[in-house]
Parts: sequence; structure tokens; C-alpha cells
Amino acid sequence: MAEEQATIVYIEDDTASRLLVQRVLGSRGYDVHVAGNGLDGIALAREKEPQLILMDINLPDMDGREITTRLRGLPNFANTPIVALTANISPGSRELALAAGCTGFLTKPINVAEFPQQVKDFLQGRVEPLPPEEHTLHLQKHAQNLVERLENKIREMESANKRLRELDKMKSDFIVLVSHELRTPLTLISGYAHLLEEQLKQSSQSAVPAATVKGIADGLAMGVTRMREVVNEIISVSRIASGNLELTVGPVRLSKVFDDLSSELREVLSQRQLTMEIGDLDKLPVIEGDQKRIRIAIENVIGNAIKFTPDGGSIFVVGRRVGDAVDLIIRDTGIGIPVEEQRRIFDQFYVLGSIQHHSTSKSAFQGGGLGLGLAIARGIIEAHNGRIWVESKRRDLENPPGSTFHILLPIRQASQQTNL
Ligand code: ADP
Repeated sequence: MAEEQATIVYIEDDTASRLLVQRVLGSRGYDVHVAGNGLDGIALAREKEPQLILMDINLPDMDGREITTRLRGLPNFANTPIVALTANISPGSRELALAAGCTGFLTKPINVAEFPQQVKDFLQGRVEPLPPEEHTLHLQKHAQNLVERLENKIREMESANKRLRELDKMKSDFIVLVSHELRTPLTLISGYAHLLEEQLKQSSQSAVPAATVKGIADGLAMGVTRMREVVNEIISVSRIASGNLELTVGPVRLSKVFDDLSSELREVLSQRQLTMEIGDLDKLPVIEGDQKRIRIAIENVIGNAIKFTPDGGSIFVVGRRVGDAVDLIIRDTGIGIPVEEQRRIFDQFYVLGSIQHHSTSKSAFQGGGLGLGLAIARGIIEAHNGRIWVESKRRDLENPPGSTFHILLPIRQASQQTNL
């Protein structure tokens, strides 16, 4: 076969280099096939059984030397010319490539005028020499590199595996929690529906008293509201996870958000004998943001402050301007959060502690939740280019150390500024 009709496989992750080589060699009649990474390259080489392989060294998965060593171990590639083609010309890289099994070493960018002849030489049997002592030395180095990479890969895989196991557990916990969270209001709804049926049966002659009907309707509404909240939480978190959270940006007066929230929470706070002190937020600048969503984020943080503060405790809210942002600080005198968990509580499905003792009340001390509240809050705040974090000394039910959440929100949104 004339060299110019030979099949060549080129393993290279850079598209521009691939195109250039394909063009230069293709115009000479070579049949050039390309692969963008090591594993695909090995598969392609096995499929095409080329007369020559051009090998980039720095590749995303296996590097070119590792691929070469692997190919040399396959029966069909013991003698195939494998030519390293690399921009890495650091001292020793040529020797390392040759020791790993490469036949030659060419540098990128290729010299278009000389490249076809260089390829032809390798096809005709050219082999770049490497003195035996150099070979041994660099083979040792190559072996060490391989083991080091293997060690790093094992480490990476072990931590990925650990993370996957944790995620798996979080998801199964989540399923238990969701079914529990939905079943409670469902029980409520079916109870009231049953009650209504009974009332109708009993009073077939006369009308059911209005007060009874109202009581039943309120009960039904409560169940439906709770179910809607659970479903909304799941929808919000899935939107955030898929990056589909759309913001309707307008002026947001944080003092108003807190005023509304505190009057809605008055009853719950008094039931739990908690006090909520809100500092002078009127002085804060009006910020740009999605009022509804910012309210949800704040509501989730305050809701947690209520849930995780023992009866009789306090919640303090203050705000200050920090450069071009507003820092909202929500502090409680609750049970605190262990330092090592302070990042993960913002992850989806993350519920600290055991879900066995999960109570379903939203406001009871250590009451239940889906582990989505803070993930939603973080998603919303980050969609506003803000940040949310927590500071707490430890978790301690005996001597509650309290937690302090910070919500940092830019005063202006970048997209708005460019529109002006
Ligand atoms: P949940 O729906 O379970 O409340 P979140 O995402 O809102 O989920 O919170 C995750 C976990 O973070 C909670 O289970 C709780 O253990 C911890 N946490 C959140 N806020 C506080 C707080 N103010 N004090 C103590 N622990 C908190």
C-alpha cells in the first residue's frame, strides 16, 4: 500500500489541531480518523487498525503516554508507529514519551510544509533512538507517574463513591419524609371529609349548622394548604436544581417584607413564647430583586429559627449596608449547628440528625421539614448574585449557643444595570 493511502488515527482533544492535521494529511490522500480522548482513541484504534497513530500527550482522561503503553500491550499494536504530537517541550518530555512506547516525538504547532514528509518517514520505519540507560531511567519515571496517577484516581473515585452513597441515603430519607409530610395533611383532609359525610347523614332532615360546616371547611383548607406547601417546596427545589428559577426583578423594601412576615408569625411566636426583635430596617436601601422569592428565602430562614429555638427564646433581625450590598443578619438563641455541617445544611434534602424523630409540625420545636428550606433559600439568594451562610459554635440542646444566618444581597442586579 502506498504510504499516502495509509489509515491514520489521531488522538487529540483540541479541535483546531484535529482539523489542521486532518486537512494537511487528508489532502495527501491519507485516511485520517480522530478521537477526542484516550478511551475513545483506544476504541478507534482497535476498530480501524491504522498504519500509524498520532498521539497528543495532554488529554483529559488518560494521557498520551498511558494510551501508548496500553496500545503496546495489545497484539496488533506492538509495532505500529505511534508518534507523539505535543506542545509540551519541557525537558525530558521527549524521552518520557519514547520510553512509554512512542516511536517518535513531533512538536505542535505542526510545520505544515514538513509534516507530511515526517509522517511518511515514520510510516517507512523511522524510529527515534533512545539510549538504553536513558530508556531505563525514563521508563522508571513513567512507571512512577502511572502509579501516582492511579493513586490520585483511586482517591477521587473513593470520595465520589462516598458522596454518591451519601446522596443515595439523602434521597431515600427524602422519600420517607415526603410520604410522611404528605400523609399527615392527607389524614387531616380525609378525616374532615369523613366528618362532613357523617354530619350530612345525621342531619338528613335539617341543615348542618353553619358553624360546623365552617369548622370542617377550615380543617380541610388547613390540610390542603400544608399539602400545597410541600408540593411547592418540591417544585421550587427542582427549578433551582435545573437552573430554571426565573426572577421577576423589581424594587424590594426589606422592612416591608419583615413587617408582613412578623404579623403573619405573631400567633406562632406567641404559642412558642418566642420573641422576634426586628431592628430598624427602614434605613436600608431599597434593593432590586424578586420580592416574592426573597420573601420565601427569608421565611425559610426565620421558620428554621423558630423551629430550632426552644420555647422562651428570641430571634433578632438586623440589617446593614456593606458596600454595594445589604447584609441581613438573623440570629436566634436556638440549639445551634455543628461547624462541620454548616455548609451542607444548604444542600438539597439535607436534614441534620435522624429523621426517625421527625415531627410534622412546621413550627414545633425541632419540627419536621423536608431538608429543602435552606437549599431553596440558597438557590434564591444565589440567583440574585447574593450569598447566604451561617455562623454557629456547635449544636447543644442543653446550653443552646444560637445560630446567626447572614443573607447578603446586592442592591442592584447586574442585568438591570445594563438595561438602564
Ligand atoms: P428542614 O426543612 O429540615 O428545616 P432546611 O434545609 O431548612 O431543612 O434545614 C436543614 C437543617 O439545618 C435542619 O434540619 C436543621 O438541623 C439545620 N438548621 C437550619 N436552621 C437552623 C437553625 N436556625 N438552628 C439550628 N439548626 C438549623
